Amino acid sequence: MNQPRQSLRLNVGFLINQSVGSSRDFYFDLPALVLEPDLNLTNLTGQAKITRTPQGLLVQARMGAAIEAECVRCLTNTEITLNSEFTELYAFSTRSTTESELILPEDGHIDLGPLVREYMVLEIPINPLCQTECQGICPICGEPLNEQSHQHEVEDSDPRLAILRTLLEDQSTE
Ligand SMILES: [Zn+2]
Ligand SMILES: [Zn+2]
Repeated sequence: MNQPRQSLRLNVGFLINQSVGSSRDFYFDLPALVLEPDLNLTNLTGQAKITRTPQGLLVQARMGAAIEAECVRCLTNTEITLNSEFTELYAFSTRSTTESELILPEDGHIDLGPLVREYMVLEIPINPLCQTECQGICPICGEPLNEQSHQHEVEDSDPRLAILRTLLEDQSTE
């Protein structure tokens, strides 16, 4: 088995001269990767199978990576895992292109970066959560409530907080 790659740029030119059906598996292991303009991935791992077809080189990829995101409830930074699978054809000529309109570059090198970016972005949740049962933030102090033993001093000199507490107590007795 070949060594995992540290880059999404692959030299696949050698497959062009091989018979239809020939393939090569590439493995990836990238601790950190920035996909321009704005996607910062960590721990990207996965594989891509590149197969020679009559029309071009077919890429079948399966990748996983992590991103930093802000939890919508407690606003703390949290790591979200993204998993994606895609199949795309790098065509030999414009006559064979698919919807993605990918053409195999003349130098035989393909950069999977833009594709990985496109597919990973689709996997980012609209409302990221640090955990499914995230308790959100405390209405009194604004601190996350997920940690246990969250309490406030009974006496508080700030009159605004005293009013807030009265309101909260009124609500809870209703
Ligand atoms: Zn949270
Ligand atoms: Zn609090």
